[in-house]
Amino acid sequence: MNEFVFVSGRLSLDLAGTKLWRRSSRTELLNSTDDLRRWVDQAQLVDDLGPVDARGVERVRRLREALYKIVVSWPLDGHADAEVREALAEVNDAARLPLPKHQIDEYGRLTRAGGIDEVLGAVARDTVDLVSSPQLGRMKECANPDCTRLFVDSSHSGARRWCGMAECGNRQKAARHRKRNRQASVEPTS
Ligand SMILES: [Zn+2]
Repeated sequence: MNEFVFVSGRLSLDLAGTKLWRRSSRTELLNSTDDLRRWVDQAQLVDDLGPVDARGVERVRRLREALYKIVVSWPLDGHADAEVREALAEVNDAARLPLPKHQIDEYGRLTRAGGIDEVLGAVARDTVDLVSSPQLGRMKECANPDCTRLFVDSSHSGARRWCGMAECGNRQKAARHRKRNRQASVEPTS
């Protein structure tokens, strides 16, 4: 069972990160309605997603791929190819969907009502907000060359390199460490 991570600083980029290693061994994390339920739950988007079928999963994956294309292609400067224009239309279509309805009761309990439409609406809205905000200038891809996860670097120094230390930074450090050790053990005979 996959544990999803929310390290991107934006809902839209966290969804984009449910497809891993996009340049190499592409790995899909949203394979079933159960996966989608867990992602929505962990993203704290709506309290009860209600009935979901395979088409719902497909709609979310389609929006995910469209928004990924948009954020990595931005700014389009009016020169987008047909594929990117189609992706933009898809994001804008979804951005017209309703958003989750947030209500608060007198005890401070928050309820978030909505289904697949509201999930898509929230993700698309976040995408539109991201590409139209200065935050996009702080969007980075993880420094692990195999990892294609995107995040907004909100650190004061602007020096964040990894999607998340546990995910990539540590792995990279371990790989460098192994390499150093290997070199050290090879050197005497070379
Ligand atoms: Zn990474």
